[in-house]
Amino acid sequence: MTEAKLREEICYFGKSLFDRGLTPGSSGNISARVDGGWLMTPTNSCLGRLDPATLSKVDDRGNPVSGDKPTKEAFLHLSMYAERPGAGAIVHLHSTHSVAVSILADTDPDEPIPAITAYYVMKIGKLALLPYYSPGDLTLANAVKEVAGRHHAVLLANHGPVVAGKDLETAVYATEELEETAKLYLMLRGEKLKILSVEQVNELHRKYPS
Ligand SMILES: [Zn+2]
Repeated sequence: MTEAKLREEICYFGKSLFDRGLTPGSSGNISARVDGGWLMTPTNSCLGRLDPATLSKVDDRGNPVSGDKPTKEAFLHLSMYAERPGAGAIVHLHSTHSVAVSILADTDPDEPIPAITAYYVMKIGKLALLPYYSPGDLTLANAVKEVAGRHHAVLLANHGPVVAGKDLETAVYATEELEETAKLYLMLRGEKLKILSVEQVNELHRKYPS
């Protein structure tokens, strides 16, 4: 895909996510790999009103090359890419239901959301829940690095998900699957659940390796 097309795609998906209420105000950010670096959404930008011409471009060390100043959360993306050389794009949202799950006191950090649907298992697999860090705390970068090699989807407590994919469409769809599964899970809290068995989960991983 050309850089021009990728710029358009970032704006298209940004607007789609914003219009459906998946990240409010100027929250959330998107990045995608290009030759020699990454495109990123600018700081304080609303994902519903991105301009392909002013997206931030950073080099392979994260230094600004062109466009508006990159998102303050660029370090989250860069630390994920550092551990996942196959990742072509990353989506970070402040999506309500995923954030809600991260706030529940009894959420299991090793399995924040159980395997309740096949598509959750196929698109997210094993989600990592990281503890709370205040905005801009750069030690969060190390925490993300520690788990990003094993998890392409990370949930930041009291904040939101960060999801990597081989390309932008894959990362967006996985983030949406996470949000919808979080919503389902919250709807079902307090009910007796029939979650997928270990055998069923393993079969999915065999049939649809990520
Ligand atoms: Zn954020």
